[in-house]
Amino acid sequence: MQPTDPTPATSNINVRRGEPLVVVDDVNKHYGDLHVLKDINAVVNRGEVVVVIGPSGSGKSTLCRAINRLETIDSGVISIDGKELPAEGKALAKLRADVGMVFQSFNLFAHKTVLENVTLGPIKVRGMSRKDAETKAMELLERVGVANQAKKLPAQLSGGQQQRVAIARALAMNPKVILLDEPTSALDPEMINEVLEAMIDLANDGMTMVVVTHEMGFARKAADRVIFMADGEIIEEATPEQFFTNPQSSRAKDFLSKLI
Ligand code: ADP
Ligand code: MG
Repeated sequence: MQPTDPTPATSNINVRRGEPLVVVDDVNKHYGDLHVLKDINAVVNRGEVVVVIGPSGSGKSTLCRAINRLETIDSGVISIDGKELPAEGKALAKLRADVGMVFQSFNLFAHKTVLENVTLGPIKVRGMSRKDAETKAMELLERVGVANQAKKLPAQLSGGQQQRVAIARALAMNPKVILLDEPTSALDPEMINEVLEAMIDLANDGMTMVVVTHEMGFARKAADRVIFMADGEIIEEATPEQFFTNPQSSRAKDFLSKLI
């Protein structure tokens, strides 16, 4: 087990709670001729909730995947808790386990029960006993409100329930940070709030989070900072209050005017 995060649980907005946990330093990435990440510099501090927003195609998902090394980068450095992400191998698996990831499409293992989905990583990667993994999984499923679904297969759950299982599965690895890439955009509207509420609970517990979302209510309630990306660049970085009431760039103004 990792030591628990010493950062006190707090929901204070706009307070930088700790030292840098995720550092993205001068990162560039191309897909062929397309320059998808252009000199990206970003820091996520321990206990911070950073919301990344921007038009479709601006590189938000690529950045998340790069942070988890699901994508390679062409230049620059990404480090998690002071350790540079290695390109591959066992060290990568270990560091990657520190970064929980929740995708737009729930991508749970379809042929495994909800409980097995949550226990698999801790047993295989963290070497936890089945009994301990199950106890912990049930606590996490309880926390996101789906403990009564533990024996079912993912297809028997609603989209909102599946996404909450995906969050529990990410948390089961005791990640240092969790990345959620548009976690509610594939959901029916009536299921969005239950997932956002689980995310707000996590934020209030002091979890370090990077959330790609266009849910402005979530950003206003839970984000310490908003990063606005367009065309592979970070255009603006501000508190939600500053960003939503007084965006500086014309691209952010334009984006926000279309959103609301
Ligand atoms: P966002 O998440 O902000 O919508 P993405 O990071 O998914 O943006 O994509 C950024 C750009 O990179 C887009 O133009 C997209 O078409 C392109 N892209 C994403 N993944 C690939 C890939 N595997 N191969 C080629 N181009 C890609
Ligand atoms: Mg995306």
